[in-house]
Amino acid sequence: MATDFTKYIASVPDYPEKGIMFRDISPLMADGQAFHAATDEIVKYAKGMGVEMVVGPEARGFIVGCPVAYDMGIGFAPARKQGKLPRETVKATYDLEYGTSALYMHKDAIKPGQKVLVTDDLLATGGTIGATIQLVEDLGGIVVGTAFLIELSELHGRDKLKGYDIFSLMKY
Ligand code: 5GP
Repeated sequence: MATDFTKYIASVPDYPEKGIMFRDISPLMADGQAFHAATDEIVKYAKGMGVEMVVGPEARGFIVGCPVAYDMGIGFAPARKQGKLPRETVKATYDLEYGTSALYMHKDAIKPGQKVLVTDDLLATGGTIGATIQLVEDLGGIVVGTAFLIELSELHGRDKLKGYDIFSLMKY
């Protein structure tokens, strides 16, 4: 029988602020079998796409993406917040509810023409993953797929990712 992954997600009301229902993935990460099974589902999705590299944004995109890259025997490159990468970078900005934020990747993180799977724990408005995709494409990479543990359907992040293939393990 297929695993019900939602039982490993803790829903926390009013976090980080009133009116927000935070979906906490830590119980899923803490359960070895569930973490393995969730990783397997993403690997299953990505197989056959010719993925050569996985890219994920700080910080939970690393947690999701690294085991996928390890399992597929390919590399992982992080998209990081300001001031974290020691060598020359490219930058992409994205909108937050109030103001903007930015993500960075090393200039040599992706080789032109490389096929990339982009991962994160959760798709909400699509701002974070949109900036990550922009970085990959600025470096000449080809985003062949995007994979998330959770998609918050009512925030319509999917609409921002028109033209990209999207896999989400759970929808809320
Ligand atoms: P977006 O940029 O799509 O609006 O928001 C997604 C990003 O915010 C992801 O990187 C994700 O880690 C974080 N995020 C926003 N809301 C939640 C949530 O309820 N649970 C978790 N685990 N992450 C969230």
